[in-house]
Amino acid sequence: MNFNDYQEKAASVAIYPTDPEDIEIGNIAAYANALWAAAEIGEVCNKLKKVLRDDAGILTEEKQTEIGSLAVIANQASSWLVQSIESPNPEQEEHLNLNEVGLAYTSLGLAGEVGELCDKIKDRFDNNGQEESLNKDDMIGELGDILWYVANVAKELDISLDEVAEKNIEKLFSRKERGVIAGDGDNR
Ligand SMILES: [Mg+2]
Repeated sequence: MNFNDYQEKAASVAIYPTDPEDIEIGNIAAYANALWAAAEIGEVCNKLKKVLRDDAGILTEEKQTEIGSLAVIANQASSWLVQSIESPNPEQEEHLNLNEVGLAYTSLGLAGEVGELCDKIKDRFDNNGQEESLNKDDMIGELGDILWYVANVAKELDISLDEVAEKNIEKLFSRKERGVIAGDGDNR
């Protein structure tokens, strides 16, 4: 199966709202803030990942400050999320829209599935990474869920999964040629 075949099949079993007319919501901020919180936690994960790669896992004082500040922002995003769920602010709601409901659905789902994978991998920290504790079928299932959402986020943006895969490999090989694989930032 190639990427586009997969994307087509994945779309054929997709059941989610795409028309804003079908949605009745009073607290749009909850959806926006959930994505914001996921984005900020993602930033913390990215920085920690680079400490493993570049600094042998040692959190220097400088990294502690940098990553600590990012974690504070993630915490802030989470408290805004709690507030927007428990007591939506009408003034804030007025400035938001949820016209791209299919994109909101698929990106929330993607963040959710990445969270499920992280949850299972995080459990391995507790048992010395013993092989028998990892259920491979479970992992295949979770990775498949992530792939499904990736395919459908792309579909919502009218992008083919083939193109996503090709451009990604192009970017990485170009970085390799220029010796900037291990650098920082998306545009390098
Ligand atoms: Mg799952």
